[in-house]
Amino acid sequence: MDVRTVGVIGAGQMGNGIAHVLALAGYDVLMTDISRDALEAAMRLIEKNLDRQVSREKITSDQRDKALNNIRTTMHLPDLGQSDLVIEAATERETVKTAIFEDLVPHLKPETILTSNTSSISITRLASRTDRPEKFMGFHFMNPVPVMQLVELIRGIATDDATYKTCLSVVENLGKTAASAEDFPAFIVNRILMPMINEAVYTLYEGVGSVSSIDSAMKLGTNHPMGPLELADFIGLDTCLAIMNVLHDGLADTKYRPCPLLTKYVEAGWLGRKTQRGFYDYRGETPVPTR
Ligand code: NAD
Repeated sequence: MDVRTVGVIGAGQMGNGIAHVLALAGYDVLMTDISRDALEAAMRLIEKNLDRQVSREKITSDQRDKALNNIRTTMHLPDLGQSDLVIEAATERETVKTAIFEDLVPHLKPETILTSNTSSISITRLASRTDRPEKFMGFHFMNPVPVMQLVELIRGIATDDATYKTCLSVVENLGKTAASAEDFPAFIVNRILMPMINEAVYTLYEGVGSVSSIDSAMKLGTNHPMGPLELADFIGLDTCLAIMNVLHDGLADTKYRPCPLLTKYVEAGWLGRKTQRGFYDYRGETPVPTR
């Protein structure tokens, strides 16, 4: 199938990046959100990020203008019904995602491919709530989308080959690389990354190291560009906790139990960069460890 129009649901951290890379690759993008503020903020951010790419000579100003022209926004979900491909990137809560699919499905053309950018929720279960499990799959971008090379493609139990191949060709058109993953909790990247982050929080909780010593140990000792606690703040501690809960519930193994300190930070509303406080406090000039 030849994909030309793509609907993006959710204009948050991920949705705006997804719209950005699709528009730059020449797709017609229609982005929706329940929040008008989120849509406006996303458009401002996309423009700023494209401007930065122009100033770094990664793209021309003509490419930036064309990309901006390729993106439209709407607050009316059924407007996405005529898209060839839909990528859902709304809040990581299963009830939110299934409600979106239930509202959208009656307006979709029969050939539309429906995908979710979920970090951890079962693709097979989400697919079963739609009228097209064979045309449903996981399309998992990494954050920040314009910078990160990988897209995980996750087939549900019913996903057909044509759907997989179409999504793979979109990934290739974006100049990105796909990794194919089976539909088990948290797929590949988060199955490996989140237990590492959770273990870093346990290391802090048990007093083995401070925030700075854990992060510098992992940066300098394993050549990671960011420490695990810094990375957790970047991803969002609520998202990290949600993924650990999906691993714990889905695999029923105590090795995935979320660290109580991670839960405590989330309960405090200290969710990382997005709320200006997490394992670091971002309210001043430079981040200061909170423990
Ligand atoms: P976010 O909180 O930044 O954005 C979510 C957006 O969804 C918000 O703007 C919200 O208004 C909108 N939304 C909520 N309900 C909606 C509805 N019914 N219809 C339309 N829009 C709705 O979250 P995010 O970090 O962008 O995450 C989005 C998805 O991407 C999640 O599934 C998450 O697991 C996944 N993801 C996140 C990351 C990451 O590092 N943050 C990485 C990969 C994948």
